[in-house]
Amino acid sequence: MAGDKVAVFLDRDGTIIVDKNYIKSPDEVELLPSAREAIGMLRDFGCLLFLFSNQSGVARRLVTVGDVAACNGRMIELLGDRGEVFDEICMAYEEPSANPIWRKPSPKFIVTMVEKYNLFSKNCYMVGDKESDAMAGINAGINAVLIRKNSLVPALIDCEIAKNIAIFPSILEFSKRLTLGT
Ligand SMILES: [Mg+2]
Repeated sequence: MAGDKVAVFLDRDGTIIVDKNYIKSPDEVELLPSAREAIGMLRDFGCLLFLFSNQSGVARRLVTVGDVAACNGRMIELLGDRGEVFDEICMAYEEPSANPIWRKPSPKFIVTMVEKYNLFSKNCYMVGDKESDAMAGINAGINAVLIRKNSLVPALIDCEIAKNIAIFPSILEFSKRLTLGT
């Protein structure tokens, strides 16, 4: 049944690759340690994988849609040698000030994919390194996971909402928990 599928929405910068602020060239793409192993585990487990990234550099005219696609392509090349890694690539190009529809913490991309793939929200995870990632997951009614490496996280821990966010030291620890239960 489609609804039984586990789906993971993954942030890009700071979650899969090193966050270098508006990277323009594929040469700047650098995988974070264990990202390849972690995403391979999720793939082997049969998860649907969605890349979900805010790329306001496009709206700010710092980078083009083509630059973003080239960097995504390089990341995918580094992540896998078994063809496509992601089932869909969801890029939000809007600026935060422009009343964005797709930009995290908006749940719009997640909700759209949950409907398109006929998923159960309890089987879906939003994984990222920032509060806006977690809030996108919460706003969409799916599981929210933070990779603890960002200074925003300690502030968030004090919030009521943080009770609904699972925090892992790395994407690999999350993948192990999800696929092995450890
Ligand atoms: Mg990030």
